[in-house]
Amino acid sequence: MYAAGDVRVEDVPDPAILEPTDAVIRVTRACICGSDLWPYQSLTPAEGARVMGHEAIGVVEDVGADVQTVKPGDVVVMPFAWSDGTCMFCEQGLHTACAHGGFFGNPEIPGAQSEAVRVPLADGTLYPLPVGEDDALMPSLLTLSDVLGTGHHAAVVAKVGPGKRVAVVGDGAVGLCAVISAKRLGAQQIVIMGRHDDRIALAREFGATEVVSERGADAVERVKELTDGYGVDAVLECVGLDQSMDTAIEIARPGGAVGRVGVPQHEQVPAARPSFFKNITIAGGPAPVRAYIEELLPDILEGRIEPGRVFDRTVDLDGVPDGYRAMNERESIKVLIKP
Ligand SMILES: [Zn+2]
Repeated sequence: MYAAGDVRVEDVPDPAILEPTDAVIRVTRACICGSDLWPYQSLTPAEGARVMGHEAIGVVEDVGADVQTVKPGDVVVMPFAWSDGTCMFCEQGLHTACAHGGFFGNPEIPGAQSEAVRVPLADGTLYPLPVGEDDALMPSLLTLSDVLGTGHHAAVVAKVGPGKRVAVVGDGAVGLCAVISAKRLGAQQIVIMGRHDDRIALAREFGATEVVSERGADAVERVKELTDGYGVDAVLECVGLDQSMDTAIEIARPGGAVGRVGVPQHEQVPAARPSFFKNITIAGGPAPVRAYIEELLPDILEGRIEPGRVFDRTVDLDGVPDGYRAMNERESIKVLIKP
C-alpha cells in the first residue's frame, strides 16, 4: 500500500531468516482486515509504503537455529502480533504487550498479504494446527489470527458471562465474531447494532437476539427499551469511532462495562461524565489473540462455532486491490486471500 486507495501487487525480495528465532512461512491463507481500511482511507505517501496484512495461516518453510516448537512442513496460524511467549506480559496472557513483540504489516516488518512472510520469535508467536493446509475449516481457523480472538477479547474484558445482557456495536467481521463470543460465554441477550442486511442476518444466525439499526440518541433509546430501561451489562465496541464509543457508554447500565477493540480514531475517550457517574468500566485494546487460540480452537475443530462465515469473498494476490475496494465500499464483509 503506497497511499490511500493505492494498493499494488509487486515482487519484493523473498523473506529470509534474519534472527535465529525467526521462521519463514509460505502463506496459504490471509485476509484483509477492517483495520486495514483506516490506512486505505488515509495513508499519505510520506508515511511510507508498506506490505500489508497481519492475519495468516501458512506452512513453515524454514526456521532459525533456535526455533524448537515448529518445524518445516507444519501448518501454523500467525496471530497479528508477534511475541516471545515468555516475558512477564505474555505470562499474564497479554501477548500484545510483549516486551519483545510487535505488529505485522507496518513499514518496519512486511505483512502477510504476500506469498511468504518472516515471523519473528516463531516459538512464541506461531501456533501449529492439527489439520492439512487445505482443510475445509480453513476460513474459520484463519479467524484465530485476529477477528475471532478480537471479538472474544471484547467479551472477556466487558465481563460477559452466563445470563448477561450484551450489546455489540458494529456489524463488521469483528462485531460478528463478538456475537459468537458473547453467545459462547453464555450471554442471555445479545443486541447487534448495525445497519447492513447481510451482516445482520449473519449476526442472527450467530446468536444475536435483537437488532438495533438506529443511530445516536435513537439507538440509545431503543437499547434501553429492550433492557428494562437500564441498558446492557456489557457493550462490545467493535468500531473505534467517537460516536460508536459515545453510544457504547450511553447504553451501558450502571456498573456495566465497555470492551473496546475497534482501533480508536479519536484521541480522547468520549462521554467522560456519563461513564463516571454510572461507574462504567472501560477496558480493552489490541487483543492478545495468541493467548486465546488454545481455548477457541476446539470449538472450531468440533464445529460448535463457524466464524469463517464472515468471509464472503475469496481473491488471489492479484485480486487484493479490488478486495480492498470491495470491503471499503461495504460490498464485502471480509475478503479471504488465497495466494
Ligand atoms: Zn512476551
